[in-house]
Amino acid sequence: MTKFLFLSFFILLLGFSAFFVSSCDPDNSCTEITWYEDAEGDGLGNPSVSLDSCEQPEGYVTDNSDTDDTNGSNTLHEAFSEFDSENFIIYLDGNEVVIESNGWPNHTSPYWSNTTERVAIDPMGNTLITPAASENHPLFVEPTATTYEDMAPGNIDDFNGSYTLRVPTNPSTATNSSATGLGPIGIAISGAMIYNDEEGPNVPLDNAVVSLDYTAAHTGPQSYHYHLEPKAWSDDDNKLIGIMSDGFFIYGRRDYDGNYPTDLDESGGHFGPTLHNPDGEYHYHIQNETFLGQYYIIFPGDFQGTPNDIQ
Ligand SMILES: [Zn+2]
Ligand SMILES: [Zn+2]
Repeated sequence: MTKFLFLSFFILLLGFSAFFVSSCDPDNSCTEITWYEDAEGDGLGNPSVSLDSCEQPEGYVTDNSDTDDTNGSNTLHEAFSEFDSENFIIYLDGNEVVIESNGWPNHTSPYWSNTTERVAIDPMGNTLITPAASENHPLFVEPTATTYEDMAPGNIDDFNGSYTLRVPTNPSTATNSSATGLGPIGIAISGAMIYNDEEGPNVPLDNAVVSLDYTAAHTGPQSYHYHLEPKAWSDDDNKLIGIMSDGFFIYGRRDYDGNYPTDLDESGGHFGPTLHNPDGEYHYHIQNETFLGQYYIIFPGDFQGTPNDIQ
């Protein structure tokens, strides 16, 4: 009996302390303040979208002076609607736009994994085997422009990484142009990368043309990339090709009005209207000059803006 009373008292005491801890703990108190949504990320909040919270919610600020939070200078450019929604994540971060891609193209290619084993010899004389998969990838097509013998080693879906490019929302041309380098120099709307007119250090593209698929791309040390006009979606037209690492968009050989532009600079760029901006902006075109008599190099020139890393 005594033991039982003692136990009851003890339980009661526990209950009381729990009650006191939960209701009177001074650390649980906080001062709620009002936060305003900053959809553009410019530091100015929208006075008509607010919430009260102790901690700053993601995308909210204390300022409430933004009279136009959605149609300011920092909205996502209309052209980004053409980028493949499965392969990309594109968002604004302050005065920059962040473009993240998984590096995979949204179209068919013989470079998707398939049931044919390929053997290639690299320039050092090493044998590189691309093993046969148990089944063809749904986007795999038989090589037509290239052959199994000429194809580069590796498949598109071997690449299991991502690429990120950060560019200003309103890029400007630089005082001096800068040369492109090996590796990605731009990102195509398909999800795959754009390379320049060199295949490697002291390896001209001429040596690698036989390995390009019907859309002028092949796998490389890192991933699938285009060197020439990407026929999968652009063939002598005005389609959007992608974005170069200096933040300027690149279009097909024809201008918004269907004519070949006549005022291009040495990088294939000019200021003028595009399909996505009737007011005009600086943009590049694939130049209407043949390479090896039949191809069109996407970007053989220098950047006219300031290039950013694609990594
Ligand atoms: Zn290449
Ligand atoms: Zn143009």
